[in-house]
Amino acid sequence: MNEADFMKSVETFARDTVAPKAAGWDRTGLFDVVALQQAAKLGLLGIETPIEAGGLGLPFRTKAKAAETLAASDFGFAMSVINTQNLTYMLATETPHLAERYVPDLLAGVRLGSTALTEPQAGSDFAAITTFAEKISDGWVLNGKKTWIVNTAASDVIAVYAQTKADTGGAGIGAFLVDGRRDGFHRGPPVSMTSQLSIGAGGFELKDYHVAEDEMLRAPGHAFKAILHEINGARIYVAAMCCGMVSAALKIVSDYGHQRQTFGKRLGQHQGWRWTLGEAEVDLAAARLMVEDASKLMEEGDPQFAAARTKIFATKMAERHLPALAQLMGAEGLRDDHPFSRHIIGARVASFVDGSTEMLLERLTGRHARA
Ligand SMILES: Cc1cc2nc3c(=O)[nH]c(=O)nc-3n(C[C@H](O)[C@H](O)[C@H](O)COP(=O)(O)OP(=O)(O)OC[C@H]3O[C@@H](n4cnc5c(N)ncnc54)[C@H](O)[C@@H]3O)c2cc1C
Repeated sequence: MNEADFMKSVETFARDTVAPKAAGWDRTGLFDVVALQQAAKLGLLGIETPIEAGGLGLPFRTKAKAAETLAASDFGFAMSVINTQNLTYMLATETPHLAERYVPDLLAGVRLGSTALTEPQAGSDFAAITTFAEKISDGWVLNGKKTWIVNTAASDVIAVYAQTKADTGGAGIGAFLVDGRRDGFHRGPPVSMTSQLSIGAGGFELKDYHVAEDEMLRAPGHAFKAILHEINGARIYVAAMCCGMVSAALKIVSDYGHQRQTFGKRLGQHQGWRWTLGEAEVDLAAARLMVEDASKLMEEGDPQFAAARTKIFATKMAERHLPALAQLMGAEGLRDDHPFSRHIIGARVASFVDGSTEMLLERLTGRHARA
């Protein structure tokens, strides 16, 4: 499928299927596996997965565009889709011997995927994780807890990052495939949040979970560097998602300004009202250019600083403009058939996932601290 046809189908799906369901997901707490399987039918769980492995074989920039389009309707759902697609792509391209076992089910949404780094005691300081992988004769035994992991409300194909050697920091960390249907995997309840329940965030504990020798996904020495590169990509598509949320809000507000009257004029005819839209439009255009630029660098292989800059700018842009745009709607903006409240929480989540704003600022400005 070419990119134009794919994006057309994603737009229709986001508008006609995701948007109408999104408020209900927050109300009921449903993690909508059926909607994820509908997404799978469009190829959304295999955007980057090579065609020969059953995916669409489209480039990173298409993934970023799809993420923006889905997030315009619901940030959490977009994150859920992209997290399964990421794991599918990794298995298909890095571990062909495991791909046969898992990729077809992941592409169909029969099983969902997650990537688990964060632990109750280690978030930003990822090198401090304590989930431990002990080497045994026929593989590894994993013990530890993970929390705040996208999709773990239902996922059971999980890339788990674990320490293999005490006191070695990032150098000792490896990545292991954990199959949630096996002994030793204990799923916890989903994280209780006020919004964005469609992201399916939760956690699990591993108690003497056995990983076979060939189920190590990334070896120590390589895993830490590889996941940091992957996270650079995540920073770019999360920035794209922030653009999606602001773009959706702008459209709703602009339409409302054409119909709602105050003081004998349409809202759009009050200068003080419409300048807020103008400010959001300017920043949105800048954020989109940054996403485009960073996506290109991601495809070329070295997006590090561009990814950090882009995510900082786009999340701050969304955090600033979404409440301001909601204000232009008056009380109407609070109705849950509009996405404002969900998008505001979506932007809050965006400011933490895949590197918080503070950690990205640390990364960007580290060179100024050197003697
Ligand atoms: C909805 C959701 C989904 C998530 N999904 C995943 C997932 O799929 N996989 C996964 O592994 N993780 C996931 N995460 C976890 C996310 O990556 C962490 O929340 C993030 O790394 C920050 O860690 P923390 O929340 O533990 O904050 P902490 O590390 O405890 O930090 C607390 C605050 O202090 C700031 N801070 C910390 N250190 C410094 C410093 N040196 N200088 C200045 N400020 C600092 C942080 O920016 C933050 O504002 C998810 C989080 C959320 C909210």
